[in-house]
Amino acid sequence: MVDLLRVLGPSGSCIAALAAFVVSVLVWRRSRLTARLEIVRGLHAELVSESAAKDRHTLGSLHWQNREINRGGTERGEVMCAYFAMLWRFERLHAGRKVLLEGANGRRDVALRMLDEQVYTHVAEYVCTFSVIKDKLTNSNKDDTVFDGAYLNAFKQLRTSLAETFSDPEKRARLGVHANNTEKCSCKCHEVSAKPPLPPQRPFTLA
Ligand SMILES: [Zn+2]
Ligand SMILES: [Zn+2]
Repeated sequence: MVDLLRVLGPSGSCIAALAAFVVSVLVWRRSRLTARLEIVRGLHAELVSESAAKDRHTLGSLHWQNREINRGGTERGEVMCAYFAMLWRFERLHAGRKVLLEGANGRRDVALRMLDEQVYTHVAEYVCTFSVIKDKLTNSNKDDTVFDGAYLNAFKQLRTSLAETFSDPEKRARLGVHANNTEKCSCKCHEVSAKPPLPPQRPFTLA
């Protein structure tokens, strides 16, 4: 190599320098993409973690069975905790996605496309879930307001930004504003007849 550069002279040095530069750029781009994909993996993992599964089960049972919340007992408090835990998970997703977007100057690179495809179903499902559960929380105790404004706003920003990335009109519609009727919301929960609350949970005692 040294002999070759001696033969080629100054132009050989330039070629070697250029080659080294190209290799370093390729290595940098590769490690940057790996880091971005790792962020994507972490953001998606948050939505399917064990604790998220518990919260989703708590909210999903009420949502899909169209069952009201019992005002007495512990149920309302548990549903409230799960509701806010899911709102905060989507807030973290929104923050992480914004970092990825800014890192790519607003462009949807491989990492962002992967993230958007992975989280689409989760976000679309919660457009209806948050709306339905909030109604149930409010109906079960009108004296205890659900103060979720800022967190719900972050979710709105997330679904709006996500909708802009899809050209499929059905996907865009599912990420739009929730309308609580079967004509506008495609969620099957609206076809399930309303059920009364379960009896309040009581501590187990021996007879
Ligand atoms: Zn709905
Ligand atoms: Zn629904």
